[in-house]
Amino acid sequence: MKIGIPAETRPGETRVAATPETIKKYVAAKHQVIVQSGAGVAASITDEAYQAAGAQIGSAADAFGAELVLKVRAPDASERALMASGSVLVGMLNPFDADNISAMAATGLSAFALEAAPRITRAQSLDVLSSQANIAGYKAVMLAANTYQRFMPMLMTAAGTVKAARVLIMGVGVAGLQAIATAKRLGAVIEASDVRPPVKEQVESLGAKFIDVPYETDEEREIAQGVGGYARPMPAAWMQRQAALVHERAKQADIIITTALIPGRKAPVLISEDTVKAMKPGSVIVDMAVEQGGNCPLSELGKTVTKYGVHIIGEPNLATLVAADASALYARNVQDFLKLIIDKEGGLAINREDEIVAATLMCAAGEILRK
Ligand code: NAD
Repeated sequence: MKIGIPAETRPGETRVAATPETIKKYVAAKHQVIVQSGAGVAASITDEAYQAAGAQIGSAADAFGAELVLKVRAPDASERALMASGSVLVGMLNPFDADNISAMAATGLSAFALEAAPRITRAQSLDVLSSQANIAGYKAVMLAANTYQRFMPMLMTAAGTVKAARVLIMGVGVAGLQAIATAKRLGAVIEASDVRPPVKEQVESLGAKFIDVPYETDEEREIAQGVGGYARPMPAAWMQRQAALVHERAKQADIIITTALIPGRKAPVLISEDTVKAMKPGSVIVDMAVEQGGNCPLSELGKTVTKYGVHIIGEPNLATLVAADASALYARNVQDFLKLIIDKEGGLAINREDEIVAATLMCAAGEILRK
């Protein structure tokens, strides 16, 4: 089968959907791989490296014209126009973007949005949200450390002692856990908050302190369990108690990293303007939820702003700032996913009875299938 790897065109997108490592595997399985010239440049992969792995280098039309197209982000209208009806597209296609899914259906594509895979054990190796959030959590700490004008670890020097930085992590999913681990390696003192009860143990096992906001009603306890590992919006009373505690902890913090998301909704506000006002000058906030409206109302998409003396970093899509490793992990996720839709003979075999296939298939034969 012909597999195409186009270059990504969305502004700021540096990743690529296949690496020489995954292409070698596709070629070994007798597929023909066409990579658009320059597709890997931003991820430090040259055309020559792709060729050495067995790929052919071609134009955008060559790559989009393949039977199976592997992308990072959803194609735009001009890219869809290069795709044949009946071809298969795999990528992070944003299951919540209904217009885009309608457009892909109208093109006649079978489109798989990998973000929609269920969080089950069998799907772990193709879990793009986890692979990319892990990298983003790491990079958030790096950005914070770069902006913060003090040391992260405690230092005892001949010129006196320097205190360790106090880091507060809001939202401890995959990104938050990696942010805790990374800040810990740099020697910071860490506190973290989340709505879901199992998180407490994970936070403590990484050597951080969990900020407990006790549940006062059965309803709060029930909602906090989330669905499928994801959070649900908490009742206002719980959010108020959390805000009061967070306000106190934020006054002590030097760095706050917020990662709290609720799938398909605007991100919850966790660091209010009043809380920012109360923070120490020179403190840093990294708002990883900025694309979903932000966990801090003062963060601005794509900018670092200083408000009330606090530096607020609103850089979106942090995984793109670690392009090479983000591509390497994403490409492996894609390769693992393809095992579910390619049979032993190397042909497409889309089994809609498979739980992962069914959850990720957004459209096929002109029909919208998104759940
Ligand atoms: P996410 O990116 O959707 O959200 C980040 C975190 O924000 C979550 O931990 C969420 O509980 C938290 N949050 C939401 N509202 C909040 C609030 N008001 N205050 C504080 N925190 C709030 O989460 P994610 O990283 O995608 O992880 C979601 C879950 O999926 C986790 O439990 C993770 O361990 C699990 N997971 C399971 C698998 C698997 O079994 N295959 C793979 C990956 C992740």
